Amino acid sequence: MNVLNKKTVEDIAVAGKKVLVRCDFNVPLDNGVITSDKRIVASLPTIEYLIKNDAKVILCSHLGRPKGEFKPEFSLAPVAARLSELLGKEVKMATDVVGESAQSLAKELQNGDVMLIENVRYHAEETKNDPEFSKKLADLAEIFVNDAFGSAHRAHSSTTGVADYIPAVCGYLIQKEIAFIGGALENPKRPLVAILGGAKVSDKIGVITNLIEKVDTLIIGGGMAYTFMKSLGHSIGTSLLEEDKVELAKEMMEKAKEKGVKFLIPVDNVVGKEYAPDTEAMTVPSDEIPDGWMGLDIGPKTRELFSEAIKGSGTVIWNGPMGVSEWEKFAPGTVAVATAVAESGAISIIGGGDSAAAVKKLGFADKMSHISTGGGASLEYLEGKELPGIVALSEKD
Ligand code: AMP
Repeated sequence: MNVLNKKTVEDIAVAGKKVLVRCDFNVPLDNGVITSDKRIVASLPTIEYLIKNDAKVILCSHLGRPKGEFKPEFSLAPVAARLSELLGKEVKMATDVVGESAQSLAKELQNGDVMLIENVRYHAEETKNDPEFSKKLADLAEIFVNDAFGSAHRAHSSTTGVADYIPAVCGYLIQKEIAFIGGALENPKRPLVAILGGAKVSDKIGVITNLIEKVDTLIIGGGMAYTFMKSLGHSIGTSLLEEDKVELAKEMMEKAKEKGVKFLIPVDNVVGKEYAPDTEAMTVPSDEIPDGWMGLDIGPKTRELFSEAIKGSGTVIWNGPMGVSEWEKFAPGTVAVATAVAESGAISIIGGGDSAAAVKKLGFADKMSHISTGGGASLEYLEGKELPGIVALSEKD
């Protein structure tokens, strides 16, 4: 399978056709009020393309975890209202998912009309990828467009099952994810540098194992770096440690050496007395962390070392903060790396979740080539796993 060769919404004739689009409308709600419409805004390019090209647009998504029951607090009705404002046209809201309301609204659609069906997770069959439910979803339309990258690592009815019954292509959001993450993994502009941080080695083992085979330089920061330091025989005080991963950390570093991959871990650290935002802090080399102190950020020499390695790279993949970046005192390491990535001129890809949030909060969002819209999905992609929601898409002829 060549993921870079998947059909997009532009590779299929949509005029006059009913097109089922899987969106990611899993928006934060506070008492029925949408507190951030970013995901709805992100879905606009695909929807607008379909409207402009005379498709009959049927949108679907999950929202929260209603666990197979019709619970009004998980209704997508507020999304239809907001989307309607953003598009400047009516978005018809079905009162069910694949029932009479959805079917009759779909039948009445004119070219360029838009409707939204209810939360696909109102049916327990959705997350079981039940073939009968998938068929019912597919029967609403003639073409399937998947644009929900954040759910692409799940094999559910609305992400993969429908593709068994009608032609499936990707929308612009998934196309961009494939182009950047897939491109970096399969055909990167070199040198390829990966920066991994965050709390746990165990969360990123799969990513490290896969990336070691592909990168020129691997940089490890954040809480997970201390397990690597421990494997070198350093004392790490009360820093985060995954004792059962020390041996593995050592093996990873040996493997990097064998493959000629540059493997960088912090040479100095900002350590704190306690795990608290205003705790007493000082900078110490990695082999001199005193007992009772914990590493909470990379130190200034490490910032320089990492920045130097990032400079001159062709492609950078970054996932996870370099320290407890939520706290001002321990944010400078993450800020330094964000700055180096932004100034590198490289193709820069930021994994979803915490690192995406950090980059946005620090004001570097528009300096990055790509910020992934899916935390879990982007990690699985970087682990080299095939994402079912992408595998299911038709390939270009
Ligand atoms: P992750 O979800 O694995 O990307 O990890 C992100 C979390 O790791 C953030 O909440 C950070 O506060 C935390 N983190 C990063 N570095 C450290 C550290 N040195 N000690 C404790 N937590 C850390």
